[in-house]
Amino acid sequence: MTGERVLEVEIHEARLDDRLQVPAIDLQDLPHSRKRDDDAPFRSDRTAGLARPRATRHEGRSRLVRDADGRDDIRGGLGYDDDARCALLAQGPERRVVRIREERRGIVDDSVGRNDLAQSRSDARGADGHRPYARDIAVSSTHVRPDDLATCISCGLCLNDCPTYRVLGDEADSPRGRIQLIRTVLESPAAPSETTVEHLEACLVCRACETACPSLVPFGRIMEGAREVLREREGGGRAARTMLDTVARPRRLAIVARLADIGARLGLARLAARLPGRLGWAASLAAPAEGPPFRGVDRDDADVSIFAGCIMREAFGETERATVRLLERDGHVVSVPEEQTCCGALHAHAGDGERARELARYNVDAFSGSDGKVVVNAAGCGAHLKAYGDVLAADPLWAERAKGFAARVRDVSEIVNPVPARARRAIRVVYQDACHLAHGQRIRAQPRALLRAIDGVMLVEIEDPERCCGSAGIYNLTHPEISRELQQDKVRKILEASPDVVVSANPGCMLQIAAGMRAAGSSPRVVHLARFLDDPDLVMAGDP
Ligand code: SF4
Ligand code: SF4
Repeated sequence: MTGERVLEVEIHEARLDDRLQVPAIDLQDLPHSRKRDDDAPFRSDRTAGLARPRATRHEGRSRLVRDADGRDDIRGGLGYDDDARCALLAQGPERRVVRIREERRGIVDDSVGRNDLAQSRSDARGADGHRPYARDIAVSSTHVRPDDLATCISCGLCLNDCPTYRVLGDEADSPRGRIQLIRTVLESPAAPSETTVEHLEACLVCRACETACPSLVPFGRIMEGAREVLREREGGGRAARTMLDTVARPRRLAIVARLADIGARLGLARLAARLPGRLGWAASLAAPAEGPPFRGVDRDDADVSIFAGCIMREAFGETERATVRLLERDGHVVSVPEEQTCCGALHAHAGDGERARELARYNVDAFSGSDGKVVVNAAGCGAHLKAYGDVLAADPLWAERAKGFAARVRDVSEIVNPVPARARRAIRVVYQDACHLAHGQRIRAQPRALLRAIDGVMLVEIEDPERCCGSAGIYNLTHPEISRELQQDKVRKILEASPDVVVSANPGCMLQIAAGMRAAGSSPRVVHLARFLDDPDLVMAGDP
């Protein structure tokens, strides 16, 4: 460890200690009583100069400025142009986040520094091993683990990476703010205020904060538990309940997918997309299905099984078939267990824990016929399937089986070998990281390596490739305004790279980005990684 690195650690620890002495943030008193998405004043407030999503991590670094006292000022970094909003931001302890994040980067790649960082965290604990504020939490629910909450040291390093914080510019819409709100909710058995619910519901559960967090806060698990508490105390939206009910019922989902496909092919969706408001926005996301639905074969002699998903098998049949072909090309015998059902990720994100656990038990059972790998091609499903051990941890009958199942799950990019293909023409490819692949499963290099292995493919990186596109399950339907901001930001960055094709690994991202491309009048196709690897020339020829 060099002297310079020692200095970095000392600076960092001093700042962390500062953070720990910051008084608890009283989120109820902050001037953040943001209205709902569909609220007209909220929309006009945003257009009047609320934090813009255009700010990027790179901008944040290059435009970092010093104030008169020589302190870092995040205002220029975030690119806000609204003085009132800047003043609010400047009051918060997060104003030096960009600088601290850079220092942390110098530490986390160094194992000695990492140990020092861990040491500084444990030093902050009291004699009973808990941090002062964690000790006082009276958790009134079994859905959120006190240990998980106690991992947050309120350092604020996650703020700059949180898409909703960047769009809304409000501490209560940041990971740290939300954790504080969750603590408040759990301290009282009362129904949470409408404002608290809105801030917690506005989270994308993209888990970018997990990547940024030096304390390994399992934010996705915390938020899913908190949403379950909210749902128990104040119910849930009827529209969201209907959507979740539909994806968990294969026959109903097949009918809805068929109707959406017909609507898209007849141009009805395009017409409806011109309607104002939520209906028009929802219609803009519709796209024709990729060929007929996927119906695989359940085989006894298989060495790998496919988790086909709910929306994937109905609307992305060609991607499913391409996944099977890739595995068979590698010599695998593939089975598609018949009894499988929706993974339950959307239910867990929405706080319907009971349904999520029920679906998890179905799937653990459906795949119990073999002990081979379970291959999945949808990032959101994969992250959730890998978490089944957590989902059923409190169920003594299923906990061990769920853990065993989760250990078998692999994303398709983790298991297939590079395809020795040569594209007929040079293809500029943008790979868009799906949040639940990059942040949820830490899979970033494998898809890129598979794409680079194809002769003729030129992989072009975009700014902030890991920032959420705003799809996030049914988030784009429940929070259209924020979703649209993130979508437009993503599309702008993609178009700056002038790709021939955009490749992703999650159906929601594909629909969201493709809709943004259509709205921008742009032509690049958006396809799944498996389809592109299977036959890049066919994709470029426009095969539907
Ligand atoms: S999950 Fe995403 S949106 Fe939610 S707090 Fe973390 S970074 Fe922000
Ligand atoms: S979630 Fe992690 S990065 Fe964010 S404030 Fe808590 S400890 Fe810091």
